[in-house]
Amino acid sequence: MYKKILDYFSLLKKSNLVSTSYLFVGNNLLSFSLDIGKLINCSNSDYFCNCCGSCREFERSVSYDIFCIDEPSTIKIENIRAAQQFLAYKSTNLLKKVLIVNNAHNLTEEASNAFLKTLEEPPNDSLLILISSRPDMIFPTILSRCKKIYFPTINEFPHLYSKEVLRDFLIEGRLPVFKSREEAKKFFSDVIVFLRDYVIFGIIKNKNLLISSISYEIIPHFKRNLNKVLEILERAITLLNELDNLNINLAVNLLNLVSR
Ligand SMILES: [Zn+2]
Repeated sequence: MYKKILDYFSLLKKSNLVSTSYLFVGNNLLSFSLDIGKLINCSNSDYFCNCCGSCREFERSVSYDIFCIDEPSTIKIENIRAAQQFLAYKSTNLLKKVLIVNNAHNLTEEASNAFLKTLEEPPNDSLLILISSRPDMIFPTILSRCKKIYFPTINEFPHLYSKEVLRDFLIEGRLPVFKSREEAKKFFSDVIVFLRDYVIFGIIKNKNLLISSISYEIIPHFKRNLNKVLEILERAITLLNELDNLNINLAVNLLNLVSR
């Protein structure tokens, strides 16, 4: 699962390009995030070996170097203070201590403000991973300090639903008309997959990391600034999440306005 994203992090590790703070956008990513922590820390392999001391640290039920905030509802300032205390101590067994904040959209305003201070000056020996399926509900100040990694959702995996439609929309700005919400959801998912592929390809020019095979056909014709693409990507994810409450053709129109 998510092999391409593991490949991506493995490449970052080899190239010494791992950042301190990430936001993983998707569902059920807690155990995958721990795998990323393991990958970043394992010095035996480009991925993880599962047998060195640091890999084994991730199998322990209690570790001084790994801290997860996994609250079912709100994440309060007390949770953030505990995390900050955890970060204040030097790592015992790991190269980089791992802090994971699951459902980061549940941070209260007070907790967000407190956490912002950590994100502004994260300790060097740490890896911070926030997880959320609703990045649109996270404070923009928090969002802007994390590298965002977008995960495929189950029905987001390449449909190849609309190669021509996708191309017409992205390159020509020609708007599709949808008869059903299902059709629109597939379209939005395809747009999201493409934009994410474009961002990854822009950073590391490796076509094996692309999620959708049609991305590679469209990428040479799609010449956009990466920051602008991230903005469109976030907009597309917000719209996809709100699609049940929106008029679908209006939603496509809104997306088109941002991507102009
Ligand atoms: Zn290892």
